[in-house]
Amino acid sequence: MVDERYVQEIVASVVKSMAGGTEKKQKGVFTSMTEALAAVDKAYKELKNYTVEQREKMISKIREYTLNEAENLAKLGVEETGMGRVTDKIIKHQLVANKTPGTEDLKPSVYTGDRGMTVIEMAPYGVIGSITPSTNPSETVICNSMGMIAGGNGVVFNPHPNAKRTANYAVDLVNRAVLEAGGPENIVVSVENPTKESSDEMMASPIVRMLVATGGPGVVKALLSSGKKAIGAGAGNPPVIVDDTVDVEKAAKDIVAGSSFDNNLPCIAEKECFAFENIADDLIKYMTENGAYLLKGEQVEQLKKVCLVEKDGKYGINKKWVGKDAGKFLKEIGIDADPRLIICETEEMHPFVQVEMMMPILAIVRVKNIDEAIEMAVKAEHGCRHSAHIHSKNVDHLTKFARAVETTIFVKNAPSYAGIGAGGEGYTTFTIAGPTGEGLTAAHSFTRSRRCVLVDGLHIV
Ligand code: NAD
Repeated sequence: MVDERYVQEIVASVVKSMAGGTEKKQKGVFTSMTEALAAVDKAYKELKNYTVEQREKMISKIREYTLNEAENLAKLGVEETGMGRVTDKIIKHQLVANKTPGTEDLKPSVYTGDRGMTVIEMAPYGVIGSITPSTNPSETVICNSMGMIAGGNGVVFNPHPNAKRTANYAVDLVNRAVLEAGGPENIVVSVENPTKESSDEMMASPIVRMLVATGGPGVVKALLSSGKKAIGAGAGNPPVIVDDTVDVEKAAKDIVAGSSFDNNLPCIAEKECFAFENIADDLIKYMTENGAYLLKGEQVEQLKKVCLVEKDGKYGINKKWVGKDAGKFLKEIGIDADPRLIICETEEMHPFVQVEMMMPILAIVRVKNIDEAIEMAVKAEHGCRHSAHIHSKNVDHLTKFARAVETTIFVKNAPSYAGIGAGGEGYTTFTIAGPTGEGLTAAHSFTRSRRCVLVDGLHIV
């Protein structure tokens, strides 16, 4: 366990160095984007002389450092952004450390035959420009760094300005780990004060050969207009359906666990629920017995005024409430309770259903049957094709929903986070590229395919 005072010291030291104080400079963090780009360009050229085995050693060290500092990172993230839960953020960092693929993800392919042998290998892009969100600031920096370095690349980050201290702490951590493993200096870099200008400079720089954006629709659109190879990991609004074939108590527990995880910040988290009307009462009862607080009638509209803003009949989020604890919302409307999640019943078009809020609030809509549930869920997902979830033992229901919603992640009978490897099979990522189609990114996503042909040789039959 790391004590509170130690974390305060880290925060104070980071702040002081940001203010131009005499504290030790963070590794890889530069005052200007121009300097950062020059440094990572040099580092990438050095990395080309390292073996894949040496790259793997760097990844192993990053895993070790992330596990050791998971608690610091989690506390820094919550303290700086005011969003999320420390205990859940620790789990997220452990997941990054343990389940982000390394160099084993790079699989060559080969053709042999009468005319010789052709190999296809996964080669680095070079320097990758990465824009990261405020919701998983250090998780995304570390996870992307691991995949990008495994692929042989250097990385320049332009982190979310509201999470720059946490993101840059992670940049420093990655560099410390890489250096200890004998790797080059500044293989990942960032800027002290990320701005729109530093982002523009990064995107336009000829040094940057590929761009990766993790965030809402604005940044994905900006990236896709850059004229460069880009991976866009955008917004979602994941629905969850519960039919009448399941153990309703288990479904209730799973949904509360997934939807309340890190106060609903994860882009994959259950954000609205469509429940068969014949099990809806039981589902709500079991949710309230497992960490949820049920709001009724006027209370729902009171809460709406707190967490949403209305303009011309359209609702958007009140940003200062993103990722806050459920108890804080309740206090604001005069209720003294501290649950993991707030639930309420609404009609389909209620903004709690339609808006991606990233708050521990889950609206439940009663549905007559699977067709109605799927129709509403697909509509609420708004074509993001990001994530969707279902609790059902009916194979036809599972299949029909998966086919209709076309999401990158589809979780059946588990909390949403099983979709990124927490309690489910498969590796993890914090950059889920729906719009550009790479899906759950890993080292292979950050490489280019190169073919090498030898004619009339090296075939042995
Ligand atoms: P955000 O869109 O506000 O910011 C994300 C990043 O993009 C930040 O670094 C921000 O500075 C930058 N940015 C925003 N607009 C930009 C523009 N026009 N040009 C250049 N840069 C720009 O997102 P956030 O609030 O930090 O994160 C939450 C959002 O991100 C949610 O919509 C969530 O679903 C999404 N998200 C998606 C994934 C995924 O893997 N698909 C992962 C995490 C978060």
